[in-house]
Amino acid sequence: MAISDIKNLSAQELQTWLATVGQKSYRSEQIRQWIFKHQVLNFDEMENLPLELREQLKEQFSVKTMDLHQKQVSSDGTMKLAFRTADKKFIETVIIPKENRMSICVSTQVGCAMGCTFCRTAKMGFIRNLSLGEILEQIIQANNLLKEINRTITNVIFMGMGEPLQNFENVHQTCKVLHDQSLFNLGRKKLTISTSGVIPKILELKDRQT
Ligand code: SF4
Repeated sequence: MAISDIKNLSAQELQTWLATVGQKSYRSEQIRQWIFKHQVLNFDEMENLPLELREQLKEQFSVKTMDLHQKQVSSDGTMKLAFRTADKKFIETVIIPKENRMSICVSTQVGCAMGCTFCRTAKMGFIRNLSLGEILEQIIQANNLLKEINRTITNVIFMGMGEPLQNFENVHQTCKVLHDQSLFNLGRKKLTISTSGVIPKILELKDRQT
């Protein structure tokens, strides 16, 4: 039975797990590249992994945790997606196509505690933070949808449901994976955090070196 989302593990945590099942540490990078570079959400498609390891992964982890519940495409090509999480919560993701860029607005929380008066999400109140894996999976599933028109996400905006800086660690870790040259390889200028103004967290983000 799958017990946890592998996308939530750091490279180091994945290496530690690999050691416990008798596998080499370099497999960590291979697995992460399948997921975060090649956008693969199925262990069976990770062809350079031994069959035994693929079976071990399937026993221990899930890699796809959300279902695409709804997709609406408007006349200008903007795509509004609703995902259902493993615990049956709904989150929104929006893909905005332009000639030279493909932007995605990702959610970072289910609901939101900030209470902005103009906002529909505010009426839900705060339910929970999205995990690192759930934030990244919005982008991976979007990239897989875009394959049929031969496009990929070029810009990520943290501006869906939730206040990104109230889910600080997961948003920061997401940025690191997106920026990693061996994974998503998106430059810093391609990542935008839209905040309602959580000033201590803005300052903390500025002070982080990586
Ligand atoms: S921070 Fe964003 S999601 Fe939260 S209530 Fe304000 S506008 Fe809505």
